[in-house]
Amino acid sequence: MKLLEERIRRDGVVKPGDVLKVDSFLNHQMDIELFDAMGEEFARLFADRPVNKILTVEASGIGIACIVAQHFHVPVVFAKKSQSINLDGEMYTTQIRSYTHQRVYDVIVSKKFLGPLDHILIIDDFLANGCAVDGLIDLIHSAGATVEGVGIAVEKGFQEGGRRIRARGIRVESLAIIESMNAETGEIVFREQA
Ligand code: 5GP
Repeated sequence: MKLLEERIRRDGVVKPGDVLKVDSFLNHQMDIELFDAMGEEFARLFADRPVNKILTVEASGIGIACIVAQHFHVPVVFAKKSQSINLDGEMYTTQIRSYTHQRVYDVIVSKKFLGPLDHILIIDDFLANGCAVDGLIDLIHSAGATVEGVGIAVEKGFQEGGRRIRARGIRVESLAIIESMNAETGEIVFREQA
């Protein structure tokens, strides 16, 4: 998606440790008109899928997921980071290793909001090693629901998540895929997409 690539080139900052900072428009200050254009694009890309719910993980996926959901006319559920593992059987739980914080979180979704009849589109801001998406797929499978696809704003194509999740037969659509980036020069190379 050219609009997103141009914005990343203009306002993205490449940090050491393979981290792209996009907090002026994506995950701290949020450009809602850009999110709206992204939502329109995801709706086009997944038009053939019977999506009835969007699933993301707190916190940075929530803003994008909400605007995307307006284009699908479906609710958003977000997996919550939990301090204490809940043992009363009311929740699906899994663990996610955070790329940016280098720690493992327990995340939960209430059984009230995810079930066998659901057809889920996963939405997140970044795809790096794929731990966040793996965790969300795990929750969906625990609920007996169907994964219709994964929509990502920025995929770091030089990390393994995208390749690994596509190899599982899951459709992943990323609006911008970074082939390489250089913290010293600030150079960002995008993968050509149809
Ligand atoms: P993964 O679980 O795929 O390794 O990492 C995805 C999660 O880590 C995303 O939800 C995102 O919040 C965070 N993340 C991974 N790489 C980056 C990055 O380069 N920049 C930012 N801002 N967040 C990232």
